[in-house]
Amino acid sequence: MSLVYDYLGVGFGPSNLALAIATQEHSELGGAQPRVCFLEKKPAFNWHEGMLIDGSTMQISFLKDLATLRNPASRYTFVNYLKEQGRLEDFINIQTFFPAREEYNDYLSWAAADFRDQTFYGEDVQAVEPLLEDGKLTGVEVISQDGAGQTHRRKARNLVLGMGGKPQVPAAFDGIDDPRILHSSQYRGRIETLLADRGRKARVAVIGGGQSAAEIFEDVTSRFPQVDAAMVLRGIALKPSDDSPFVNEIFNPSFIDRIFAQSDEQRAQLLSEFRNTNYSVVDLELIERIYQMFYLQKLRKNERHKMFAHSEVAEVNTSDTGIELVLRNRADGSTQVHKVDAVVLATGYSRDQHHPLLAGLGDHLESLSPDRHYRLNLTNSDSKIYLQGCCENSHGLSDTLLSVLAVRSQEVVESVFGQPVGDAAAGEEQRVRLTSAL
Ligand SMILES: Cc1cc2nc3c(=O)[nH]c(=O)nc-3n(C[C@H](O)[C@H](O)[C@H](O)COP(=O)(O)OP(=O)(O)OC[C@H]3O[C@@H](n4cnc5c(N)ncnc54)[C@H](O)[C@@H]3O)c2cc1C
Repeated sequence: MSLVYDYLGVGFGPSNLALAIATQEHSELGGAQPRVCFLEKKPAFNWHEGMLIDGSTMQISFLKDLATLRNPASRYTFVNYLKEQGRLEDFINIQTFFPAREEYNDYLSWAAADFRDQTFYGEDVQAVEPLLEDGKLTGVEVISQDGAGQTHRRKARNLVLGMGGKPQVPAAFDGIDDPRILHSSQYRGRIETLLADRGRKARVAVIGGGQSAAEIFEDVTSRFPQVDAAMVLRGIALKPSDDSPFVNEIFNPSFIDRIFAQSDEQRAQLLSEFRNTNYSVVDLELIERIYQMFYLQKLRKNERHKMFAHSEVAEVNTSDTGIELVLRNRADGSTQVHKVDAVVLATGYSRDQHHPLLAGLGDHLESLSPDRHYRLNLTNSDSKIYLQGCCENSHGLSDTLLSVLAVRSQEVVESVFGQPVGDAAAGEEQRVRLTSAL
């Protein structure tokens, strides 16, 4: 049987982009010259475009870019991007490790452009079917649909899923399809249209107590003078994220070995202990700005914007005149009704999109728990399947983030293709030479 691709990547966000780069550099170091492709449902490369809020910055050092931790001499480092754009010196003068998210999106798009001939944009992958020879799994057939409704089928020996998260919606909003209710992933673009339709005052509720909720709350209260906003969060207060140096070590790629080696119970305990590095927490400076805004409201005796802390949305009723939120106080169970014209759900993402996609592999799939190299256990198979970005339970909190992309992609490439084989010694020599030249 002739297989077209050595591997096929589903999704082309930072995870699979880092993989494309690592694959190219692996082959330059004397590895195989593989045929690979990526299918991405967006029409063009874009990184969380719905959250490109003016002034928002990265929450990770630019040194944890697509390549530096694996190969600082790569063409695809953030520093080389700056050099090529003619902004390296200006960036140094800004004196920050945390570029604007807008700039990081530009960096990622710049890198993605080099892989245009491997990437099929505007294709939504809908199913994965097994390719069998005498009962043995030899590859997969990936079925996708483009914007025109046309179905495409591609065969590959191996598969790498890098699909990111799926917007998560609180139970009270389940099954409600109303254009006035949007997820944070759609915020930029949708909110402007929604509010532009309204000449008069508009009431907006932001649900959530994490970084995205806080950024949206600040943006909506500062950019739209006609908006009265409310923030609804389950926690008692907005809490700061812990990015202190000892704690930050849990995001080192080398920490993954330690986490992976632990028992399920130990790992769950560790994830819960360090949740405040990433979930339901906010940059301290942003918390301080929001507090200051509330303080000025009090001073001016004009308390338009509100914060409903320790509260959750118990019920949602929509009508032509607005959206009624029944808010339940989590301390005493009391409820109150808050009426708004628009709701933004900054309520995070689930990361189980691979479950339905891989269901077609049936008995060949032993479990959905990956090994240390992100590879799923398949029975009677020559084919390999890898997961990127949805292995938090086994590989730790860094898995859904950018911290480990560069190193993880090398691990996946070497698991698929082995160490560079052509002239491995020369390859390594070249890597060392390039690195020391930096
Ligand atoms: C607003 C925001 C800011 C963030 N900032 C940071 C930060 O500063 N630092 C940090 O470390 N992390 C940050 N994160 C975490 C984020 O998960 C990572 O930045 C990064 O996006 C992970 O890359 P990924 O490729 O795994 O997933 P994604 O970026 O989500 O990319 C997955 C891609 O797969 C595509 N896809 C999904 N399903 C299919 C399908 N069926 N068919 C075809 N294509 C599909 C999607 O369209 C998407 O382009 C942030 C997240 C958000 C939401």
